[in-house]
Amino acid sequence: MKILIVGSGGREHALAWKLRQSPDAREIVCAPGNAGTAREGRNEPVAAEDIEGLLALARRERPGLVVVGPEAPLALGLVNRLEREGIPAFGPRQEAAELEASKAFSKELMRKAGIPTAEFGVFRDPGGAKRFVRARGGAWAVKADGLAAGKGVVLCPDAARAEAAIAEMMERRAFGAAGEVVVVEEFLKGEEASLLAFVDGERAFLLPAAQDHKAVGEGDTGPNTGGMGAYSPAPVLTPALEEKAMETVILPAVRAMAECGRPYRGILYAGLMVQGDDLKALEFNCRFGDPECQPLLMRMEDDLLPYLMGCASGNLGARPPRFDHWAAVCVVMAAGGYPGSYRKGDRIHGLEEAGAVEGVKVFHAGTALDAEGHPVTAGGRVLGVTSRGETIKEAVGRAYEACGRIHWEGVYCRRDIGAKALRRTGGRV
Ligand code: AMP
Repeated sequence: MKILIVGSGGREHALAWKLRQSPDAREIVCAPGNAGTAREGRNEPVAAEDIEGLLALARRERPGLVVVGPEAPLALGLVNRLEREGIPAFGPRQEAAELEASKAFSKELMRKAGIPTAEFGVFRDPGGAKRFVRARGGAWAVKADGLAAGKGVVLCPDAARAEAAIAEMMERRAFGAAGEVVVVEEFLKGEEASLLAFVDGERAFLLPAAQDHKAVGEGDTGPNTGGMGAYSPAPVLTPALEEKAMETVILPAVRAMAECGRPYRGILYAGLMVQGDDLKALEFNCRFGDPECQPLLMRMEDDLLPYLMGCASGNLGARPPRFDHWAAVCVVMAAGGYPGSYRKGDRIHGLEEAGAVEGVKVFHAGTALDAEGHPVTAGGRVLGVTSRGETIKEAVGRAYEACGRIHWEGVYCRRDIGAKALRRTGGRV
């Protein structure tokens, strides 16, 4: 089977790498891909948000499956359009991708389904939103309803700052149309974890828990990014909490989506806040997380393709996917200045040497090839150095050993990926 992967990040390189190992994969095509996916298959220069261009490419290539990596094409209805052409596609249809594309829809579904989540209000006018926070006081998360590339959430320690964030989003339109509607919700304390599941409309198979690192700086300081690293397993989500998350978050969401006529098929990603034995859903995403995807796929023992096909066709079958008992860690290497402005076009050195470290695979994200075929930086998040180990400690050691062999002008990575897991377990997991 020929497989077309849509996207250009580390997630898509990991998908291409894993799918290429499938005995049923004949050819991998990525649109637009990066310098790493070019080595797993062939790149085609069509952007992930160019729906008409992707349809034309799919008509030409006739893939047996299109795997949609990022949320934007899902929210634009790429899967609906492909299905109308008779081309199987992995990822939710537009109406189901609302679970990520509209925070108001997502929170209202949580309320209807009885999913534990932060108290909230949904507002179309800034006055109502400001009165809501002023009347209650305390700390808030103010969220633009629509997609804002992970930047549409402002955490506010008091009501005055929440009112300022509301004004920024609704009056000054800091996030454009995404901020026409805002969700204002109670600030939750705790530790975050990501729990992903393959979903076929009815059934859900969990992947192991993972943890992301959103902030750019060590110790979770500084502005939020697309994600600076991830690891799996996430010891904060004990087996008992994982079961609780399945019963109180994932399955109720799948049932509620089916009941409202928007059956959910694809990866359902629940962002969770854990405090002691208690957990609440922070958000849903409608695709693999990037960088969580990289360590998760590294731990997956089974062929990925039948699970993606099972989600796409609405029949996952009866056998849950198997994952190894090892740990995996992904350290993101970014261009200096990211998530602010940064340089592009710097030559990347040491990729071969890094890939030679035991248990390491270097996934590309923002990379391209220069005129002489040498990899250069082409985005903010440039590489996801991913490693396996018997413990998180071993995997972390291997990832940083590989990072130490890679260099370009201005390279930056957090030095504390996995530190929370090591603190929690004393390095035993
Ligand atoms: P979201 O896109 O809704 O997950 O928000 C992005 C990030 O903001 C999350 O990963 C959390 O770190 C943080 N966040 C969101 N909502 C809350 C909340 N209610 N309380 C505390 N932190 C939050």
